Amino acid sequence: MDFAPKQLPTLESRHVDPHSYPSGVAFLDGQYLPMSEAKISVLDWGFLHSDATYDTVHVWNGAFFRLDLHLERFFGGLERLRMSIPFDRDHVTEILHNCVALAGHRAAYVEMLCTRGASPTFSRDPRDAINRFMAFAVPFGSVANPEQLARGLHVAISQRMRIPPASIDPAVKNYHWLDLVRGLYDAYDNNAETALLLDFNGNVAEGPGFNVFAVKDGRLATPATGVLPGITRRSVFDLCAEAGLVAEALDVSVEALLAADEVFITSTAGGIMPVTRIDGTTVGNGQVGPITTRLKDAYWAKHDDPDWSTPVTYS
Ligand code: PLP
Repeated sequence: MDFAPKQLPTLESRHVDPHSYPSGVAFLDGQYLPMSEAKISVLDWGFLHSDATYDTVHVWNGAFFRLDLHLERFFGGLERLRMSIPFDRDHVTEILHNCVALAGHRAAYVEMLCTRGASPTFSRDPRDAINRFMAFAVPFGSVANPEQLARGLHVAISQRMRIPPASIDPAVKNYHWLDLVRGLYDAYDNNAETALLLDFNGNVAEGPGFNVFAVKDGRLATPATGVLPGITRRSVFDLCAEAGLVAEALDVSVEALLAADEVFITSTAGGIMPVTRIDGTTVGNGQVGPITTRLKDAYWAKHDDPDWSTPVTYS
């Protein structure tokens, strides 16, 4: 096929409608910007190869929740991926505060992230890429909507295997979500609202953006391997220790999950959220269980505890 050169088109700059983005503020290349102007290069390895790590902390009633733990996980991920950013923890804390304060959100979803970046020569050597730190604060969002929170989520168990830890260390919070997204579509096809994926041994692992707990005879269990060590999961362990409840990280089989008295999922995006239906079968008596409710109330009460929260100064 002949290519007949015509007149070159004119280079245009794109003006994006700011209303097509959630309201919020991002930090990028040393500047605070509206979300509609926070853009990265299409050559960034974070975009091209999912070569990135991130963390998400929430702000509730004008205060960060367990920010120290989120920073620890984020900086641990940077180290394991051999990325470096020109900011220490105090400076990242200041940037996150500024994003929230400038956005004015009292309930926010706040993300800090670092991509491998792009190399000026499009080199294939990741060491040539210039790592990029970004952060943003948008309104708080939840895995479950208010109706689902009240009656419990309907979950489907996907037969897809969550990416195994020998491939990607799940302790490095990452954007390798194709398995999770495909699991979500499986769930929608099965009239469920979200999905749980299995680990490499066929036990329950985690879902798109959450860990899972099963309660049986008053004892709690959550998958030990092949999952992100969630901060909300950690909060459940801390709350159980305070409440005198036994909580363990171990293998959770599909059968054990289906036979549980109560099931709930945990995420920074929503906290402790009940599950009342799995693969079309009711969990326990089909109602949100007493231990789930007790832990959920304790979790939200902790948002006023100065040991677990850091207020934002909005000025
Ligand atoms: N598992 C995955 C894959 C996640 O992406 C998340 C959060 O985004 C979680 C679990 C829950 O972690 P956290 O409680 O720290 O939000």
